[in-house]
Amino acid sequence: MSKIFDIIGAGIGGLTTAIALERKGIKTRIFEQAEEIKQVGAGIILANNAMQVYDKLGLRNIIEENGNPISSMNITKKNLKPLSKIDLSYFEQKHNTKNIAIHRGILQQILIKELKTTKIYLNHKLTKIEKNGNDYDLKFSNGEKIKSVHVIGADGLNSTVRETIFPNTSIRNANQICWRGVTDYELPKKYGNELNEAWGKTERFGFVQIAENKVYWYALKAFKEDKNEFSVKDLNTYFKDYNTTIKGLVKATKKEHINTAEISDLKPTNIWYKENVCLIGDSAHATTPNMGQGACQAIEDAYVLSECLDKYNINKAFLEYQKIRLPKAHQVVKASWMVGKMAHFSNPILIGLRNLMLQVTPSSVNKRQNEQIFQLAKI
Ligand SMILES: Cc1cc2nc3c(=O)[nH]c(=O)nc-3n(C[C@H](O)[C@H](O)[C@H](O)COP(=O)(O)OP(=O)(O)OC[C@H]3O[C@@H](n4cnc5c(N)ncnc54)[C@H](O)[C@@H]3O)c2cc1C
Repeated sequence: MSKIFDIIGAGIGGLTTAIALERKGIKTRIFEQAEEIKQVGAGIILANNAMQVYDKLGLRNIIEENGNPISSMNITKKNLKPLSKIDLSYFEQKHNTKNIAIHRGILQQILIKELKTTKIYLNHKLTKIEKNGNDYDLKFSNGEKIKSVHVIGADGLNSTVRETIFPNTSIRNANQICWRGVTDYELPKKYGNELNEAWGKTERFGFVQIAENKVYWYALKAFKEDKNEFSVKDLNTYFKDYNTTIKGLVKATKKEHINTAEISDLKPTNIWYKENVCLIGDSAHATTPNMGQGACQAIEDAYVLSECLDKYNINKAFLEYQKIRLPKAHQVVKASWMVGKMAHFSNPILIGLRNLMLQVTPSSVNKRQNEQIFQLAKI
């Protein structure tokens, strides 16, 4: 296929798609609204499914070298006593890949460096797509107009591409505020290769090592009406009853380096493409972060879409891509939404029941759920 694919958005989804298409000999251009690609002050966990894709793209070693392997994911009480533990070693062996926690900025740089023929056009915020015969006119806020034949919307939750082709989708606010930070910190050795997420009452706190003496943490709190009910200034108060490691991480992070965001997702939609325009990643299926799968699902999209475009003509490729990816992506969105609700129960009886359920759920049930998520589609 000799025509160029224009990707809107240079996030993890857009960059990985460009790399995957380059590997198939398909040319791409990326248009990104930002004036420069800034390092986000947060980490990310690339679960086994994402790492299998990066293995196929030849990026596994460099990501492993720059990140930290995670062999267990734990939900705990405030004091870090485990309620449930998912041992990832079974999946590591089965798929011969690890789960890697890494700084987002470092991952971004690895992906950007890997682009060989793709140019990233910064300061190109897409404002409109207009059909013009068989092609599209892409209009940007800097006044430029570019002709395009194939468009891939990788422009995230508030996607302009999606708004243009499917104006009736809806974004759901989870009524949770999220703080994220990265700090230099020497974790107790036992936490070195684990993700721990402590659940309390309407709030929770997760942390994971991303490099030697570097820790990424995130904290969430449910609000009733307005996110301004809570402030980053009071973070230590919200977690004052938590384990000393958690309090230490908050204390060690400069407040001005903490990233604050509201949590939302996209209500599942059943169509991801129209004619020559197709959505991937958060623009198609943004999820709440409760399963740590948003970017992993975008990475799977990149892999499946590139395989389909390599095998089929454009119409069949988009259809097959959607058929393969949509059920799994929606499963993640739905499960993640539910986990988010459960994690923020405020009623003490419900909290007790939830904790008991987490403790008694057999590890085989957890394993089965992850089995589906970590399995890549066969194409
Ligand atoms: C608190 C939190 C923690 C998370 N943790 C994890 C995790 O551990 N593991 C995981 O897999 N996922 C995680 N996620 C989810 C993950 O961050 C997203 O799913 C992922 O970043 C989506 O990638 P994307 O490329 O589709 O979209 P985005 O990352 O949103 O990228 C979209 C890009 O498009 C650009 N853009 C937007 N509009 C335009 C426009 N009009 N014109 C041009 N460019 C545009 C943006 O500037 C951006 O660069 C987390 C999310 C949150 C909020």
